[in-house]
Amino acid sequence: MNNPIETENQKLLQEAPAPQRATKRQRDYQQIGIYKDVNPLDWEDWHWQLKHRIRTREVLSQIIRLTPEEEKGIERAKGKLSMAITPYWATVMDAEDPNCPIRRQAVPVVQESIATAHEMTDPCAEDRDSPAPHLVHRYPDRVLLLATEACAMYCRHCTRRRLVGESSHQQADSADRFDAALEYIRQNRKVRDVLISGGDPFILEDEEIENLIRKVREISHVEFLRIGTRVPVTLPQRITEKLVQMLKKYSPLWVSIHFNHPKEITRRTKIACDMLSDAGIPLGSQSVLLKGINDRPYIMKKLVHELLQVRVRPYYIYQCDPVRGTQHFRTPVSVGINIMEKLRGHTSGYAVPTYVIDGPGGGGKIPVGPNYILSQAKGKYVLRNYKGKIYTYLE
Ligand SMILES: *Cc1c(COP(=O)(O)O)cnc(C)c1O
Repeated sequence: MNNPIETENQKLLQEAPAPQRATKRQRDYQQIGIYKDVNPLDWEDWHWQLKHRIRTREVLSQIIRLTPEEEKGIERAKGKLSMAITPYWATVMDAEDPNCPIRRQAVPVVQESIATAHEMTDPCAEDRDSPAPHLVHRYPDRVLLLATEACAMYCRHCTRRRLVGESSHQQADSADRFDAALEYIRQNRKVRDVLISGGDPFILEDEEIENLIRKVREISHVEFLRIGTRVPVTLPQRITEKLVQMLKKYSPLWVSIHFNHPKEITRRTKIACDMLSDAGIPLGSQSVLLKGINDRPYIMKKLVHELLQVRVRPYYIYQCDPVRGTQHFRTPVSVGINIMEKLRGHTSGYAVPTYVIDGPGGGGKIPVGPNYILSQAKGKYVLRNYKGKIYTYLE
């Protein structure tokens, strides 16, 4: 067998003595009754994982003990952003604890059906800044291309929930659906950076991804190409050797991965990240600040430290956008600022992301953080450092 994932998995299984086979953060899937007879080759097959996603209360209740809030949430979420959980993700969820950070990101709760004041359908006004289907052009030199509406798992805090998800009568994706977007990029020579996101682009078949990347790469003024994904976290089996070898051909290509909690960095996810890194693909992380999930400085610090260990550079922490039905996830801005205060200076600069608020109404990402400039006068800056000590810099 020369599939590197399988080889690596075999190695991991052999290294660990039998009683400790399950990784520290994951249940062994055979421990979950409904998966106990699944062939390991099926388990490692990303199409199998997708096909067997948990989409109903009945199936989920065989894996975790559901609360009434969750049961009602699942019923009410029947629509666009309905529940979809990969069997892999199910092995990371805590069966008993409804506050498990992995579980809360995946299982709808009844609070999602409450829309509060200030919440919007499209808080970042992406639809307004869309010059062509599937394209958002906000900044002068870069565009966002939405490759698909589907994801491996539907995050309950999704900011693009107006678009993302699966409708019951999904129309087949036509190969020419990006023609207008690509033509727009071709005509705009200022666009030097194309961010392919969605949905999750890695949910598409290798050939579809390659067709799109190739067409973007062919545009001579596009220097920088990146893909936004959560697949290494929600469906790490998707990162196959074949996918990685294809991506490698289009270097320089960067990948931004949505990571929110240290529990997400399982051995399996590390393998996926290693495969991407080993192919020379630089990795960054983007996290959403979520109440009760990663809103404590020690958790965020653990996350960024573990990310560096799997060669992922923390890039952004987003304030949770005021999108409808997400109030239960939102923290005050001061919580994010305090997290930044506890990171900068206290740990490696490489571990410190930028905390941003996406300006509601289409302002773009605005950095917010502790203030280190105490006063500024002609030729003189009064600054404080991470310990609160004051320093004067004379120009
Ligand atoms: C986030 C985003 C980008 C990329 O922004 P960077 O700060 O360069 O990562 C581009 N376009 C849109 C619409 C975005 O939301």
